[in-house]
Formats: sequence, structure tokens, C-alpha cells
Amino acid sequence: MGIYQDFGLKQIINASGKMTALGASAVHPEVAKALSDASMDYVDIHELMLAAGKIIATVTGAEDGCPTSGAAGGIAISVAAVIAGTHLTRIEKLPFSDGLKNEIVIQKGHAIHFGASITQMISLGGGKVVEVGQANHVEKKHIMEAINEQTAAIFYVKSHHAVQKGMQSLETMISIAKEYQIPIIVDAAAEEDLRKYIAMGADLVIYSGGKAIEGPTSGFICGRASLIEACRAQYKGIGRAMKVGKEAIVGLLTALRRYGFKEDLSQEQRRRMLWLIEQIKDINGIEGSIVQDEAGRDIYRAQLKIDSKVLGMSAHELIRRLEEGNPAIYTRNHYANIGIINIDPRPLLPGQEQLIVKRIKEIVEETYEHSI
Ligand SMILES: *Cc1c(COP(=O)(O)O)cnc(C)c1O
Repeated sequence: MGIYQDFGLKQIINASGKMTALGASAVHPEVAKALSDASMDYVDIHELMLAAGKIIATVTGAEDGCPTSGAAGGIAISVAAVIAGTHLTRIEKLPFSDGLKNEIVIQKGHAIHFGASITQMISLGGGKVVEVGQANHVEKKHIMEAINEQTAAIFYVKSHHAVQKGMQSLETMISIAKEYQIPIIVDAAAEEDLRKYIAMGADLVIYSGGKAIEGPTSGFICGRASLIEACRAQYKGIGRAMKVGKEAIVGLLTALRRYGFKEDLSQEQRRRMLWLIEQIKDINGIEGSIVQDEAGRDIYRAQLKIDSKVLGMSAHELIRRLEEGNPAIYTRNHYANIGIINIDPRPLLPGQEQLIVKRIKEIVEETYEHSI
């Protein structure tokens, strides 16, 4: 029994990916130990923040870094930093920023929902959101016309959630920012490359600690030293409502230290998925195969193609029943409307593929019994 079951909650088998709604990442034992050790001792928080900044700088190639509660908190704090700087009275006034340079320019196709609204996080930091262009079409001219003496920063979102076509590239946005001498903030929350956007010339870049990095619930901002100092200063203001604890900071740093030295588990994961497919090969109406990640990454998922006429239930019905059970099983369902369910091996804990097979067989059995 797991810790969550001690509190009366059902067991979750996550075969979907990194989902905030399912708790993002299950951390490596080394990260868990760091969290635990850090929580049982005291530290000078200011010193810890500065030391964390140095480590983040080393990993990202930036001048300095600032831990946050998550990427969403990182957005609010970055925006607050470019608006209020280190000026205490201004910091304490946010999110009210009337009379200050407070406009944040963002392309319309980047005004996304990542689980919450990105423009709301910008507003939380005192930013007045200026959306430019249309949802599927932004020209360079739109951006240049939006910039004026009230502009505090340009905000760029690097994410699969953002509209990919018809938007201006990060290169273009950085060159505009340089031309007008305004900072550019990049939300790279779920990105795997921790150095790329800093190397391209972004002033502040935001990452989530619980996504690609597989750390605890946390995040960080990296970038120019003066702006990062302003980010840290926001913990005397709105940042206090987004506090990141000593445990999370140490867990994040430990995950960052592991990042890049992570062992390649793709072949073992592929074997586990082959095993799963082998176990269900006799079920009529489910055809299993291994498919590589659409983006070409070394991820090999088990793909179950459902023939609803033969199986007696649709992919959607099977998904519903997997999620309803205890343990509740969550699969990757982007293609469910065409009868395809994917099992992602990365978040599966040891042996959970066996529980998935068992549950699928049970559901198929029940359906079969009802139909005779
Ligand atoms: C997930 C995500 C966030 C929020 O990250 P948290 O660490 O959960 O706060 C922000 N922006 C984008 C693009 C995201 O994908």
C-alpha cells in the first residue's frame, strides 16, 4: 500500500505521461532522499537561494537562477521582476502597477491554457497583457507596432500548447527585443533543453521542475544577473504567495544534478511494452504494436488499436472503465477518437504493466459475459 492509500485515496497507474492532474513526476529515490533530508534540518534561506542560483547557472549556461514554486509562479515572478525591479515600494504594490512600465507583449497564438491561463499568470505579476495579431497569424509589424514606452517585456511561449504555424519565431522575437532594448521572457516549462534559449539570447527563461527534469513540484527562472536579482526580490512581495520551500529547492537541485546523467531506459521500457502486447495478443478486437514517439524521441509506447465491433466496446468505453477501476489506470488518449489507446512506459512504476494487463483482461471478460 502506498502513502496515498493510507489517506483513503485510490491507487493511480499513470500510463499517460507527465500530467499535473496526476501529480506530474514520481521522483527518483535519490531526489526523494534529498527532499526528506532537507525537510529535517535548518538552512539560511537567502544563502540557499544564492547557492541554487549558482547551480542553475552552471546547468543552464545563464548568469544566475532563481527557484520558484513552479513554472506558473515563475511567469508571475519574471513579469513582476521586469516591472518592479528591486524597488521595494513597487514590489509591495504589485499586482497593481499603474503608472509603471507594465505592458507585456505576447503573440495571440501564445495566449494559451496550460492547465491554467498564461495571461492570468502575467496579470498576477502586475503585467498588462498586450496580445498582438490573430490566433493563427502574427506579423513582425504587429509586434513592433505594439511596442511603446510602456512596454516592460516581450513574452514568448515555447510549448506544444502554443499555435505553431503563423507565429513569429523566437529568433525574430529576440531580434526585435534587442532592437528596442526590452527584455524577452521565454516560458519553456516542459522543454528538455535547458541551455538552448539562454544561448539564443533570451533574458529570462522559465522551466518547470516537475516536467522534463523529473524533480519535485517546483520550477526555476534563469537569465541575466540583474533580472534574476529582481526575481529573488519579489519574494518580499507577490512571490510570498508562491513560496518555494527548502525541501523543494534541494529536491530540484538534486534532480538538476542528475539531469543529463540519466541512464537511457528506453530499451527496457520497450521490452516491458512488448511483454504487455504479448499478454493481450489473444484478445479479439485489440491489436497491439510498438510505436515510436511522434516527435522521434526514444520513447516506445504500446499502441492498442480497438476494433469496437469485435471487442464490443469503443476505445472511449475501455478508457472510461480503466479510469473507473481501483487502481485507476490512465492511458494516453490523443487518438481515442480513431480507436487508438497508447500506453506510455515512462511513468509506469515497476510491475505496473502487469496490473494493466490484468485489468484489461477483466474488463474484456466482463463485457464478454454480458454479451452472452
Ligand atoms: C506546465 C506549464 C506551465 C506551468 O508549469 P507548473 O510547473 O505546473 O507551474 C506553464 N507554461 C507551460 C507552457 C506549461 O506547459
